[in-house]
Amino acid sequence: MRSSQMLIPTVKEVPADAEIPSHQLMLRAGLIRKVASGTYTYLPLGWRTLKKIIEIVREEMDRAGAQEILVPCLQPRELWQQTGRDADYGETMCRLQDRHGRWNVLGPTAEEVFTFHASHEINSYKQLPINLYQISPKFRDEFRPRFGVLRSREFMMKDAYSFDANPESLHKSYMAMYDAYCRVFKRCGVEYVIVEAETGEMGGSGSHQFTVPCASGEDTTVYTEDGSYAANLEKAAVDPLPKQPADPNIPAPEDVHTPHVGTIEAVCDFLKTKPSEMIKTLIYSVGDKAVAALVRGDHDVNAEKLTQVLGGAHSELADEATIQKVTGAKVGFAGPVGLAGKVSRLIVDHAVAAMAVGVTGANRSDYHTKNVVPGRDFPLDGDNVVVADVRNAVQGDTYQGKPLLFKRGIEVGQVFKLGTKYSRKLGATFLDEHGVEQPCLMGCYGIGINRIMASAIELYHDENGIVWPISIAPFEVLITPVNQDDAAVSEAAERIYTELKAAGIDVLLDDRDLRGGVKFKDADLIGIPVRITVGKKSVVEGNVEIKRRTETESRKTPIQEAARTVV
Ligand code: ATP
Ligand code: MG
Ligand code: MG
Ligand code: MG
Repeated sequence: MRSSQMLIPTVKEVPADAEIPSHQLMLRAGLIRKVASGTYTYLPLGWRTLKKIIEIVREEMDRAGAQEILVPCLQPRELWQQTGRDADYGETMCRLQDRHGRWNVLGPTAEEVFTFHASHEINSYKQLPINLYQISPKFRDEFRPRFGVLRSREFMMKDAYSFDANPESLHKSYMAMYDAYCRVFKRCGVEYVIVEAETGEMGGSGSHQFTVPCASGEDTTVYTEDGSYAANLEKAAVDPLPKQPADPNIPAPEDVHTPHVGTIEAVCDFLKTKPSEMIKTLIYSVGDKAVAALVRGDHDVNAEKLTQVLGGAHSELADEATIQKVTGAKVGFAGPVGLAGKVSRLIVDHAVAAMAVGVTGANRSDYHTKNVVPGRDFPLDGDNVVVADVRNAVQGDTYQGKPLLFKRGIEVGQVFKLGTKYSRKLGATFLDEHGVEQPCLMGCYGIGINRIMASAIELYHDENGIVWPISIAPFEVLITPVNQDDAAVSEAAERIYTELKAAGIDVLLDDRDLRGGVKFKDADLIGIPVRITVGKKSVVEGNVEIKRRTETESRKTPIQEAARTVV
């Protein structure tokens, strides 16, 4: 391609509303343009990178045995009502009524639709296991879209869904995706860590999150140096309880969370500083009625609702008396117990977040304290809730004697073992070898395509611009002729351009009628990994200069060898 014919609107100034490097550079390098809050257009360079990421993801999904399909973004709301997620997703899900008065949603993900298809197409164990995926736009009306494409309202997600006949097979399917994810992120050239994660709105029994460590990430990873513990913050603070022998006469709570331990001051501080998505997690843990009201009415929490439910401006709401009055819940605090408690205190120390008050099943409607049996579902010590630590963490801010560390990161992907939550509700069953009807065991697996792109920029940039990993760079090689009205210069540039194209290299020729300095600035900004400079002086000597974006020095190379050198 030729720069003169491409739309690459680079910008010198740092855009005012872009806070983090990837957002600034994506705008400045002409990769994206904002249309409205949380929605972006990908311009040619940005779209080329996105397509490269999509292709890597597609190849690795196919290699892992998954089959690509495409389901509609516009989905009937009834499907979401059948699984209960219409309520769970709350305001984050976009809903719209069609001309006949029927309600639809714009899919924030697609468990319901995939399970709907499985319920019709899968009948026998002989059809299992099967893994279906798609790469398509997803819609989430995020409370606070920010950081450009990192938290947007419309984004590209690869979502895969596996259907298995038994737990061993599910585990295999899960691990196949887990391994495929490792390959995807490696091939995209981004550093990543894998941590245990909460299952959140998805439901299900186990989950891992793939996180790119970087300072501007919204996620926090809690880990020990030796890797014996690694979880995201939500998981670390809401560790599951140890399994207790259940009394068959008492219905088990569907979702039992470890009671959290902390101080009310910490909660106040948290609420004051974080009127964003994180509050959702926290407020679940604050008290039963408040939580119940929020969850029943709507899953999402924002300042207005907090005010409404807890009676007061959200920055003032979290005094102990108010919470007690409004929630009727006992706001009590136990000592430092268990990992959850330790993590909470550590978090307070780190001024990131805080947890308070023992509440179980807080993210399930009607399960906030109902059906929870103190003593069975969590140990009691007098009036205090005592958390049995599933991980045997010892006293202090440690896990098994090792200091717990915190690091920010960007969640780029997540894998879940879902079990039968969706297959039961939507009738995705099969007949097993004995002719007995069984619900499919499901897994689901998401990758944020746009987030990979932004994470790569967060990781790899300098003061002059982006430094793309070559696998996802919009172009692999940039040819920069300087003084191109000189016949020898333009001839050499054209020659190398033609040779590289013939060799199948993604090459961009900066044939714009501009000064060398301007071209070099743009070259650094858009971050193409290899630059071949064709200058008047060196062309006379029969040379061009080859420079990597990661290096400062260039190498002189004979014109006729230039293409071969970089291929
Ligand atoms: P987060 O915790 O950041 O809100 P999530 O856990 O809600 O993300 P999932 O439901 O696990 O996201 O979706 C799968 C993947 O989709 C995520 O791992 C992430 O890479 C991507 N993703 C989720 N929300 C957004 C968004 N608003 N903008 C861009 N990518 C997103
Ligand atoms: Mg989210
Ligand atoms: Mg998440
Ligand atoms: Mg997630």
